[in-house]
Amino acid sequence: MTTAVVPEPSVALPGWAHTYSGKVRDLYVPDDSAAGAAITAEHGDVVLVVASDRVSAYDHVLSPGIPGKGVVLTQLSLWWFEQLADLVPNHVVSTDVPEAVAGRAMVCRRLTMFPVECVARGYLTGSGLVEYRASGEVTGIPLPAGLVDGSRLPEPIFTPATKAELGDHDENVPFSAVVAQVGEKTATTLRDLTLAVYARAEAVARERGVILADTKLEFGTDPTTGAVTLGDEVLTPDSSRFWPADAWEPGRAQPSFDKQFVRDWLTSAASGWDRGSDVPPPSLPADVVERTRDRYLEAFERLTGAPLPL
Ligand code: ATP
Ligand code: MG
Repeated sequence: MTTAVVPEPSVALPGWAHTYSGKVRDLYVPDDSAAGAAITAEHGDVVLVVASDRVSAYDHVLSPGIPGKGVVLTQLSLWWFEQLADLVPNHVVSTDVPEAVAGRAMVCRRLTMFPVECVARGYLTGSGLVEYRASGEVTGIPLPAGLVDGSRLPEPIFTPATKAELGDHDENVPFSAVVAQVGEKTATTLRDLTLAVYARAEAVARERGVILADTKLEFGTDPTTGAVTLGDEVLTPDSSRFWPADAWEPGRAQPSFDKQFVRDWLTSAASGWDRGSDVPPPSLPADVVERTRDRYLEAFERLTGAPLPL
């Protein structure tokens, strides 16, 4: 098992203290200074969620990052939170953030996160396809015979996964495991909300010629209201598979609006990297960085209908 090495964020943010870094995001909470106290006085219990330009693949954080990726993830999440506002409350409190992270951070209600990756799939690929090939089911949900990579499912399904510790793989689990973790009522709420978000987002994307194959959501409880609240990032190329609809062809891997170029290059002979080894991957060449950046920007523009002013 490889452990992702996550660099400490190097920017100092007045009023905020760094508390956690995942592979992509850095979290801050108000610090003990007067500035920190002012943030808490204004907003209550909040976290600053900062999306970095870091890119990960095959459980490694790669270098260099993808310039502008953090802005794309944040702006696209904010756009989706608005599209979904009538379906589910979200954690966004303010986009008034320190200059050093302008555009790629949001002040968010601090949630008590559920330890469940809430995944909805409308199409079969990735870990779902692997499971299906082995058992004809995905997280215990039986599927018809004869499906292939990229097949559209008869209806979207909720295929939860356990949230792994940094460096571990998430593991698909049956709905009953979510019930065991959070209780029947909350598990049902998480499933219903996840499928409602998927249905809405799938329709929005489809109008724009984009297939939303699957997506992963994270929910938490808002301690002030007790409400199940949508947190983290939403419907970004890092959390979702977006495919250009006009190129969809079940039976092969689909082209996608994400870090496909990074994965393709890493597993090609050109990189010289052995995925099975414990050796960290080599630096990404400039053209892979450039093309990946273009993919993220194109995803933003295709989905929202306007280019990101970068
Ligand atoms: P990985 O490196 O596997 O992605 P990760 O998902 O923990 O791990 P990031 O996505 O980089 O890493 O970091 C975001 C973290 O912030 C997640 O752990 C997520 O659950 C947490 N988070 C998101 N929104 C909130 C919130 N409103 N309150 C508290 N925690 C949150
Ligand atoms: Mg995450």
